[in-house]
Amino acid sequence: MAKRWIFHRSGGSLCLDLANTVSWRRSPEPIERLPTYGDLVEWARQSGVVTAPAARTLEREAGRQPAVAARILARARVLREAIYRVFAGLAAGRPPEPADLAVLDRELHEAFRALHLSPARSGFTLAWPLDDGPPLALPLWAAARSAAEVLTSADPRRLKTCPASRCGWIFLDVTRSGTRRWCAMEACGSRAKARRYYARQRGGAAASSPRRTARAPGSAGAPPSRRASGPSSPRRAS
Ligand SMILES: [Zn+2]
Repeated sequence: MAKRWIFHRSGGSLCLDLANTVSWRRSPEPIERLPTYGDLVEWARQSGVVTAPAARTLEREAGRQPAVAARILARARVLREAIYRVFAGLAAGRPPEPADLAVLDRELHEAFRALHLSPARSGFTLAWPLDDGPPLALPLWAAARSAAEVLTSADPRRLKTCPASRCGWIFLDVTRSGTRRWCAMEACGSRAKARRYYARQRGGAAASSPRRTARAPGSAGAPPSRRASGPSSPRRAS
């Protein structure tokens, strides 16, 4: 069976995790992690937007309505890029472009129009009805709602862009100290750490205790390779 990409979910919110479904954004060869509607569903499943059975239902439904699924995937990518530009801009102190906010607003409008209020075990819940099976646009709606929530509630000073030269992933720094630097320590953080180590080695300054900081690039603290975000990470053939 084909391998599924393990999505990084270190953005601190669903919308930022969606924005980070392009790897190596700042490199000449960014990698698309949502090449098919099935990948969007898989992202939603791994992110907890849908359960595994709901994800299977979505994939079956997409098989029955491939043109609709393709349009939703295209909209998801447009929304993702708008989210990326809005939040990366805010992280850099730039106000969002009206065109990007308009994309977000349009998707948000549809997402909210489909929401239903219903009694829950305690109180009420505002959710998309799943009685007739999850709607194909559910992953999109969840991301749009998340983007609106972050935009209206998060401290923009906590929005950050990973400083690794080719990465460009964005995240919400929720550490108490506000000193988080990297998109994920097991990805860019460990690579930077390894580069510093090798630079010290070359400079001859690490003669005393190299083992204290040495780790192979990409291996620090991470579950094996599939967790890494790099271009060489395994990904199922599409
Ligand atoms: Zn990074």
